[in-house]
Parts: sequence; structure tokens; C-alpha cells
Amino acid sequence: DQYGIKEAIQSLELSNIELGSSTGSQWLKSGGGNISSHSPADGQLIGQVQESDEACYQQVVETAQKAFAEWRQVPAPKRGEVVRQLGDALRQKKEALGKLVSYEMGKSYQEGLGEVQEMIDICDFAVGLSRQLYGLTMHSERPGHRMYEQYHPLGVVGIISAFNFPVAVWAWNTALAWVCGDVTVWKPSEKTPLTAIACQKITAKVFAANQVPEGVSNLIVGDAEIGQLMSQDTRIPLISATGSTRMGKAVGESVGKRLGRALLELGGNNAIIFTKNADLDMSLIGAVFGAVGTCGQRCTSTRRLIVHEEIFDNVAARLKKAYAQLRIGNPLDEKNHVGPLIDQLAVDMYQQAITKAKEEGAKTIVDGEVLKGVGYESGCYVKPAIFEVKNEFEIVQHETFAPILYLIRYKDLDEAIALQNDVPQGLSSAIMTSDMRESEQFLSHAGSDCGIANVNIGTSGAEIGGAFGGEKETGGGRESGSDAWKVYMRRQTNTINYTTKLPLAQGIKFEI
Ligand code: NAD
Repeated sequence: DQYGIKEAIQSLELSNIELGSSTGSQWLKSGGGNISSHSPADGQLIGQVQESDEACYQQVVETAQKAFAEWRQVPAPKRGEVVRQLGDALRQKKEALGKLVSYEMGKSYQEGLGEVQEMIDICDFAVGLSRQLYGLTMHSERPGHRMYEQYHPLGVVGIISAFNFPVAVWAWNTALAWVCGDVTVWKPSEKTPLTAIACQKITAKVFAANQVPEGVSNLIVGDAEIGQLMSQDTRIPLISATGSTRMGKAVGESVGKRLGRALLELGGNNAIIFTKNADLDMSLIGAVFGAVGTCGQRCTSTRRLIVHEEIFDNVAARLKKAYAQLRIGNPLDEKNHVGPLIDQLAVDMYQQAITKAKEEGAKTIVDGEVLKGVGYESGCYVKPAIFEVKNEFEIVQHETFAPILYLIRYKDLDEAIALQNDVPQGLSSAIMTSDMRESEQFLSHAGSDCGIANVNIGTSGAEIGGAFGGEKETGGGRESGSDAWKVYMRRQTNTINYTTKLPLAQGIKFEI
């Protein structure tokens, strides 16, 4: 155990077999089977988690509903104080949780720590927010009237999350939902159930110490079936779902049928435009990190580089050199740049995408390969690859969740922006340039159509202070910072008449 995994698991109070349904301090037995969680780093079984069944699900949602009636009465700044303490508890468990994220999901330990830091940051943000759930006041057109709006807690918030950010996405949602007075039911990815159990245990302690009612933080472990139960459940006014576009369409349809609210954070197909005026040293670091970081399994991973034809060959040659220096191996070893893919299925998709790209006419710059031998026993390690392609290739229009980078040539900036926008997804985008005219055009209303548009930083990663999300097939949702909290509350407009007359709006006369 050279990386201290056992110690981390002990510190997080996890055992070999865990129950997957919890209303806080209580864990519910179910008739469901067990999910085995294997590490993509070394293929070892980390532990097993009992899947929730429908009876558990019903019990959890009923407990959540009861808890909401109590929790919404707690003043928002007091709810913020509980979230502040959760941030402190996460600070204490940062190394252990970061290590488990790295081991269960396969991202580097540094990125695992970064993910827990994001949880801490959003807790801090939410604490301040708990005193700033502002509504506007308006001037009434009627004399002796006052008008304003206020935000009320919404109810039970369902959170469906993806494997690649197994803990941060939960925190982005819960920290805001809890200060907004909501209660949460979390269905983590079935590929990363243990990190979810660890989060629930950390939270339960803080909540118990603050007499937070059972049912404010709930966990349900299961697959798409439980996700569908949540999506169809009229007791859950908001479903916040992070994952593939395929999943988002299914969830969006179910939630839409009952006219519920859906916050969808789906796939990306993110591009960086390298103009002639790019500072190449810096731009290349951004592109390489964006393409190979988390083994290409970030929703904001760089998938396409749109490069000016005059610098194309130079960029391709320098990328090739940089890729030759990448160290691929155990993500817990800080010397390595690239860890494994999540599982065998992901490896298959990587191989299929490369085959398809070649069939469509892609030119190989750095070929892909599944790695074998010592250190690669899990079968999940692959070589990051680069191909020159045309943007319209079918495979390029798809998000392949793997370290495959597509290079595309362009002649002028209008064309580059059109190429950047010409995919079904709209999450993250970037331009590398020292020319102010180019960057302003890229950021203008005729520029990037993505939810995130950066200048001289890559597409990958974001700070919690901004609203995070994207357009088109990325789903249109926004979470985390700015005013993303508003989706977790219901807005009410209030008009108060403090006179003895009843004037009607728009001057309408009605006398009896
Ligand atoms: P996935 O869609 O396979 O699963 C995500 C979650 O949805 C899991 O919890 C899964 O059990 C659940 N699910 C799947 N089908 C469902 C259905 N029909 N109904 C209800 N729930 C269902 O995605 P994944 O492989 O875990 O994650 C990778 C994907 O997530 C990528 O497309 C990536 O871009 C996306 N992602 C997006 C963001 C973002 O903020 N935009 C962030 C992280 C990941």
C-alpha cells in the first residue's frame, strides 16, 4: 500500500461492504444487489456497496419531504453556518478524500485534491450567499402599493452525477441547495459509489452536531433505473443531472413530461482556436493539459484544436514532441501526467473512435494504443492520441470521453469561429491570441456560442465563482457561482396595498 490507500479509507470510516441508501445518520438495508467498485488504477476491488431498491427509494424521498418542512424554517444564515462547518470538515478530510477520488475514479492525486478544494470553495461561497438570497423591489404603478419579489425554498432537489467529478458536482449542488432551504437526494454514478458514501458520512457528522433533521442530505446508490424514478417523481421539483447528452435527453424528457424543472450539465466538444498571434509556449501547455488531463475525461477537456494554417505544422510538431514526454501510469504517483480511463467500456470507446476517425480519413500525428505490462494490469491505460481531421467528420462531432485530440486547419478567424461553433455541443471554448481584435470578435455575440469562452487559458476547468454550464446539447443548465442559486428556489412576486382603495392595474375600472 505504497500510496496510503488503506489509511485514507480508514480515515473516511469506510468498510468493505457499505449500505447505499441513507437519509443522513441512518443507513437503510435494501433487497438490491451489491455494486463492486474496482480501481481503474490497479484493478483492485476497493469495496462493495448495496444498491438501493424501490422501497429504500420511497423511504428516502418521504423522509426528505418531511425534513424539508423543518429545514425551510431554519433561517438561511443559520443554514449557511452548517455549510460553513461542512467546509471545515472537508478541509480536515481533504487528503483522504482526494486520495479516494484518485483511486476510485483514476484522476491524478493532484486533481483529486483539486476536486475536494472545489467542494471547500463552494461551501465558502454558499456561506456568503446565505445572507444574499436577494430579490428585487419594484415601483408599483398604483398609489399606496408596494411591490417586491422574494425567493422561497423549492423542496426536494434530486442530484444525478457523473463518474468523472464524483464529489465536486454533488457539492456544487448541495451547498447551494441547502442554504436555499432545500433538501437533497443524491444518486451518484454507479462507477464511483464509495466516494459518495464518504461524502455522506462526513456530512452526517456535521449535520448531527447541528441537529439538522434526518432527511436533509440523502443518498441513493443505483443506476439509470433509480435516476428514472427520480426524474418521474413529482415530489422532486428540481432534478440537477450531470452526465452524457444521451442521459440528459432521457432525464429532460421525463422531467419535462411532468413540467418539473431540470438543470442539465451534459457533454462538451470543446475547442481552442490557435491564431497566428498566439503565444505558443503558453498555448501549448493549455492545450496539452486540456487534452490529456484526467485522461481526457473532463466535460471541459480539449477535444479540438483549430489552428491557423501558417502555424499548423509547427503546432503539430511541437505537440508531437510534448506527447512523447508524457508519463502514463498510476495516478497516485505524482510523477505521472496521465492516469487510466474509468473502465473497459471506456477503453473500447477510445479504440472505436480511433478506428472510426481513420476510416473517415484522419491523418495520424500521434497514434493511440492500449497499454499493457507492468503497472497497466487494470487494462484501463491508453496512450493520448492526436489526429488531423475535418470538423465535419461524424466522429469529430461526437464527444469521445478519452484523450483523443483532433487538429483542424483554418484560414481566417470567421472560418475558425464557425468551425468552433459547428458541433452539437456548446460547453467550453477558448482562443489563444495576443491580438485584442481577435479576442473581442471571439467573445462578441457573433463569436463563440458556448457557455464558457476563455482568452489565453484553455477550455479545461473552471472556478466556482462563475456560473458553469453550456448551450445546445450541453443542456443549458448553470450551476455553481454567480446567480445559479436562483434555480434552487421559487420566485414569488408580492404586491401589497396599504390604502383603503382598490385601484386595478392598467387603470381598469370596475365598480359595484
Ligand atoms: P452517464 O450519462 O453515463 O451517467 C451519468 C449519470 O446519469 C449516472 O449517475 C447514471 O447512472 C445516470 N443515468 C444514466 N442514464 C440515465 C437515465 N436514462 N435516466 C436517469 N439517470 C441516468 O455519464 P458518465 O459516463 O458518468 O459521465 C460522462 C459524461 O458526463 C460526459 O458526457 C461528460 O461530458 C458529462 N459531464 C458533464 C459535465 C457538465 O457539467 N457539463 C460535468 C461532468 C461530466
